[in-house]
Amino acid sequence: MSQKLTLQVKDAVVFLITACVSILLYSVDLKGIGFLPVSVLQLLRAAALFTAMIVILEKIFTIKIYNKIFIGLILGVAAGIIFKSSIAEIKPVGDLFIRMIRMIIIPLVFASLLVGSASMSPKKMGRIGAKTLIYYLVYTAFAVFIGLVLANIFQPGSGLPEDIKAGLLSNFNTKGAEVSKLAQQANPIDILLQIVPVNLFNSLSNGKLLPIIFFAIFTGIALTMLPKERAKPVLSFFEGINDAMIVIVNIVIKIAPYGVFALIANVVANFGTDILMSLLKYMVITIAGLVFLNFSYPPVVKLFSGMKMGKFLKGIRSAQLIAFSTSSSSATLPVTIKTCEDVMGVPSDIASFVLPLGATVNMNGTALYQGVSALFIAQVFSIDLSLSSQLLIVLTATLASIGTAGAPMAGVLMLVIVLEQVGIPPEGLALILGVERILDMFRTTINITGDASAAVIIAATEGELNLKEWSSVQIVKQHTNR
Ligand code: ASP
Repeated sequence: MSQKLTLQVKDAVVFLITACVSILLYSVDLKGIGFLPVSVLQLLRAAALFTAMIVILEKIFTIKIYNKIFIGLILGVAAGIIFKSSIAEIKPVGDLFIRMIRMIIIPLVFASLLVGSASMSPKKMGRIGAKTLIYYLVYTAFAVFIGLVLANIFQPGSGLPEDIKAGLLSNFNTKGAEVSKLAQQANPIDILLQIVPVNLFNSLSNGKLLPIIFFAIFTGIALTMLPKERAKPVLSFFEGINDAMIVIVNIVIKIAPYGVFALIANVVANFGTDILMSLLKYMVITIAGLVFLNFSYPPVVKLFSGMKMGKFLKGIRSAQLIAFSTSSSSATLPVTIKTCEDVMGVPSDIASFVLPLGATVNMNGTALYQGVSALFIAQVFSIDLSLSSQLLIVLTATLASIGTAGAPMAGVLMLVIVLEQVGIPPEGLALILGVERILDMFRTTINITGDASAAVIIAATEGELNLKEWSSVQIVKQHTNR
């Protein structure tokens, strides 16, 4: 007992010292401290900061993983506001975290999908595929619709002062080249054709998910057509890879609070508040719509699966926090898969089929964002969009979402397609690029929530959902205890 107390006192002392050192060194101008080079001092203060965080989150308190990630997020916002650009030096920790989860995506998706599709009958696969696509398309169309309704009611783009408009449009000169390049690539038919890979290794090395999904499903089906003894070694090999990837996900989740902290601190530190104010109405409407979508899933999930609403929202928290800080559905995919399987009881073959598909095909948050943004830009340019143009927005935004990667800023590529279809000048994108990152965080969170809702619903309609009680902590415990 007394030994435990001594250890706790030791931890508390280490925390106090490292926290004070880091706060002190982040608050002063390092050049003024002459006795050590600035780079060494930067390293020292970053090390002190992370040590303080590790001691408090891992040693002093026992905290559930999603709470740790949430604390990381809040501390990140605070550090970004207080220490501003000097916090930029911790960005590599965030980059390291993203690289580590991205490293798992391709082998995880490939192996789990191949094994999953080889274990399903072609009939079941066709049924699940059809349900998944219908659910995704209907929800995406619903999301664009909600976005359009909100933008029609609240008119975020009407009455934007001319000087603010000119200031925002001047963005286009710097970022416009990027956008026009995207516009040239954006042909919906080509995007659909590219689902079939010409060269698998090319798709693997470029991280193109849809062609990989296509190939893995096809190969899985082909394996079921082979004699069992021929298919078995291949399947055991990929099962082993799949299990190993899941173990890596559990290890990487442990560093999530620190990665999230570093990522958010940087976003906040680099963000101009002026632009926030001039686009406040547009932002508030978009975020309100996204929050509405977030709460639209639990009742739908309950209706189809009987899962308690709170359980769904609680279960998805860890994945949501990671989506929020990475702005990438694909990067979040390993955690979404893990969460759906372990916390919500979705069987692995369904999760590994529905979720990777959802990470690229289903973007409800992005779709809502597009509805609001297209109308916002039209309103600023005083373009009156007829009902048929607005219906065209629903259609193009829904279709365009199919081939777009779940990556940061991917929604902008899709928005270009949508704007062009209804004759809104794509230069209008410049108006909203300044707040793109923040909205990306919110819409990505909704995108993965939509994917998870599909996984639960489809598992339930197949009679395969396991509704036993789990807690998110078990995601980590289960595998680290192996
Ligand atoms: N970042 C989003 C995602 O990964 C896509 C988007 O830009 O809207 O889901």
